[in-house]
Amino acid sequence: MKQLFRFLPAVDACLDALNAQLPASREAPRPLVRHLVNAFLDMQRCRIQEGAMAEPAQLALPGCLPALKDFVREGLRPRLRHVLNATGVVIHTNMGRSVLARTAREAVARTAAGYNNLELDLATGERGSRHSLIEELLCMVTGAEAGLVVNNNAAAVLLILDSVCKGGEVIISRGQLVEIGGSFRIPDVMERSGAILREVGATNRCHLYDYSRAINANTRALLRVHSSNYRIVGFFKEVSLPELVQLGREHSLPVIEDLGSGSLIDFSAFGLPGEPTVQSVVSEGADLVSFSGDKALGGPQAGIIVGKRMYIEQLRVNPLHRALRIDKLTLAALEATLRLYLDPQRALAQIPTVAMLSCPPATLARRARSLASRLRRALGSAAHVSLVKNVSRAGGGAFPARDLPTSLVCLRPTACSAEDLKRRLLSAVPPLMGRLEEGAFCLDPRTLDAKELPLVARVIQQALRQEKETL
Ligand SMILES: *Cc1c(COP(=O)(O)O)cnc(C)c1O
Repeated sequence: MKQLFRFLPAVDACLDALNAQLPASREAPRPLVRHLVNAFLDMQRCRIQEGAMAEPAQLALPGCLPALKDFVREGLRPRLRHVLNATGVVIHTNMGRSVLARTAREAVARTAAGYNNLELDLATGERGSRHSLIEELLCMVTGAEAGLVVNNNAAAVLLILDSVCKGGEVIISRGQLVEIGGSFRIPDVMERSGAILREVGATNRCHLYDYSRAINANTRALLRVHSSNYRIVGFFKEVSLPELVQLGREHSLPVIEDLGSGSLIDFSAFGLPGEPTVQSVVSEGADLVSFSGDKALGGPQAGIIVGKRMYIEQLRVNPLHRALRIDKLTLAALEATLRLYLDPQRALAQIPTVAMLSCPPATLARRARSLASRLRRALGSAAHVSLVKNVSRAGGGAFPARDLPTSLVCLRPTACSAEDLKRRLLSAVPPLMGRLEEGAFCLDPRTLDAKELPLVARVIQQALRQEKETL
């Protein structure tokens, strides 16, 4: 075995060979390429030790060069990369949630490329506030008196509770103490804020008297939290927002609503009923409403808070606000996204998340047929291609347990399993995420852009070809 180690090439010899044969490595930072070569050689040493590599010709330089090139090429690609989402889950947290509208992307690029008036008051030339840039627009689209934006909705909940409820009690229905994934638990965030949680009601039923009995001198607010990723059905009662607002008024307590996904468009016309819009929650009298920028809204990651000026002012002056503030790129993307909502028809057509959520089943069926014929042409006998009716999901805690009718393109490869194909596609360039349904690898056209379809066919074709070569 000792003998074999001597066949391993020198680092410099590897670097010279890469320089000559891999253009990407010529443009990359030298230390990164060197680091990758060392990692490759370490891997080869392990293989020798495991007895998996015993052929001198494969260890020495021309023999190992193809594997070395593959390894370095992969290592030089950015870690955060474009992924094709064929899962049909529109707001997919693992894949970056919302795709920005064209105008939002342009605003980000413009803002990134030069100086701007982020905190410059153009009327006076003095220091301004980044929040004043967006507040008016927030009020226009939601109907609220005032608004503020922080890093994400978890930060929004934290800032609200820290500003309004710290040291006191906040009353919440037991059925709304939710964990929303990524281990974000409402009770844990509340604890961090220094607010004391006062749970009322039973898991499935909560009455107005449960809240009113719990109110005492130490109570600071009444809180409602959207149940997001689950839905209680059957013997179930929740106190409505107007009832809670009435109770709050009687005791001079603010009513806070964490809407979670929070939408500015009523999706009930598109088969997604039962979700309040931000505007309706504001008009029903909630004092503070928080929601995410990158869920159903379809904008950048952000935590948007709207409501009564008096409370928004308390949040604004909280030192924690400084630690949770948004950056200029988020602000640029959010402004452009909100502007589209001034005309709901534009929002429906131009914000990808909104367009995907509201896409009619007939359009999806047509897209599925077109993808299927493209795949039949590209794959030939390598896979059987069929169409089946199924459902997509909104994801991101939006519209829990609501099915969105769709058409799936199902692939049954002839030379490998659907699981093998799924695994292979994860390391494709770009990677493709799909679904396994009844032994088939399925693609949902809802979350694929029309421009991505040729690429989808190409990566699947390559993945199946690869399979054949390794067999
Ligand atoms: C998603 C969600 C949050 C967290 O929002 P982020 O923007 O992901 O931080 C908070 N509350 C509810 C009810 C949610 O659904």
